[in-house]
Amino acid sequence: MSSTQASSYGLRGIRKIKDFDISGKPVFLRLDLNVPLNDKGEITDDTRITASLPTIQYGLEQGAKLILASHLGRPKDRDDKSASLEPVARRLTELLKVEVILMEDPNSDAVKAFLSSPMKNQIILLENVRYEPGETENSEEFAQTLAGFAQIYINDAFGACHRAHSTIHALPQLMKDKGIGLLIEKEVTFLDQLLENPKRPYIAVLGGSKVSDKIDVIERLINIVDGFVIGGAMAYTFLKAQGHNVGKSRVEADKIKYAKEMIERIEARQKTLLLPVDHIVTDSITNTNGRLVPQANMGDSDIAVDIGPQTIKNFSTLIGSAQTVFWNGPMGIFETPEFSKGTFAIAKAIAESPGVKVVGGGDSAAAAHASGYAEKMSHISTGGGASLEYLQGEKLPGLEILRDRRLYK
Ligand code: ADP
Ligand code: MG
Repeated sequence: MSSTQASSYGLRGIRKIKDFDISGKPVFLRLDLNVPLNDKGEITDDTRITASLPTIQYGLEQGAKLILASHLGRPKDRDDKSASLEPVARRLTELLKVEVILMEDPNSDAVKAFLSSPMKNQIILLENVRYEPGETENSEEFAQTLAGFAQIYINDAFGACHRAHSTIHALPQLMKDKGIGLLIEKEVTFLDQLLENPKRPYIAVLGGSKVSDKIDVIERLINIVDGFVIGGAMAYTFLKAQGHNVGKSRVEADKIKYAKEMIERIEARQKTLLLPVDHIVTDSITNTNGRLVPQANMGDSDIAVDIGPQTIKNFSTLIGSAQTVFWNGPMGIFETPEFSKGTFAIAKAIAESPGVKVVGGGDSAAAAHASGYAEKMSHISTGGGASLEYLQGEKLPGLEILRDRRLYK
């Protein structure tokens, strides 16, 4: 497969919400409202809700009868109230200034009864679709029930597109009129900029916990980018492969050989590879008193938890010269404030780089927001796993089912 073949699919053959006349019609709108909640049931990050607003607002402006649906967490059964969309319904009501009514049971007649009367300043939100076992089983029966409510199906749940679940896959399969919302359109458009004719220089900034999680992304990007910047725990497998002492830092022993080959392949293609040259280390993860050590002075019991200031400088200079930056993976254990400096400094460098900058991955999105530089990114994907799978060139079931091959050759 050539490196651009799969990506050239993009949004080909997929209709958009604006291609339909939705005025007065019942529209099933699958969203990703899977937000994190604390033990008190309060929303700790409403990014996915706010990212869903433009499509909902468009539907309201057009006078559509909206039926919103989403999953939240992984509930075992209906009794698991911690996965209820109730707090989400409340937040949506505040933000949209229309009443969002939570429908406990999609199998009852209540939904249809609601839709049969005019819905002024009201929308329906179905309770967590994962309360229904059929959802994750991609059940056609569950999909039949939902198909009975709506005339048009719109998917705007980018973060769920990599799952062949009933409201993502079986349901649109049953519907004639189907398409995507504004968020998916934006997500795919930005991710495609990373795959097709990117502005150069193009730098991929990778980090995070494991090389093994990122091999497919590396394999896809190696022929497209001009250089890699590698930090985070991932970097220590690469440094080890180069023969450096990495102390007790996290290393994937079974990936050292891969890292070695990867370094050779990057060199053979005359591309840039930057690795850390200094580190913040500790003697145990629970000890938050980090020490700065240059690579040459790494001790046998040192555990690297963040990149050092010289590394920040080197990485930032290269990033500052890039016209396209893709960032996936924090540079250190950024959840611990003492070890967040490197990640936040790199977030700043990316945010201030002059071109297109796109953030993918769940933890990286959280880090971008925590850094205070989220606003300056071109795009932060709301789909952690889905964005990486898309970049790897995998076909996302939620997108593929919407493609109408008659619309393109
Ligand atoms: P994403 O979700 O953005 O794809 P990952 O899940 O791959 O990112 O990586 C995020 C995790 O990597 C974070 O929890 C962070 O603490 C961890 N991490 C980063 N650097 C290190 C390190 N040096 N040692 C251990 N863990 C690290
Ligand atoms: Mg992660």
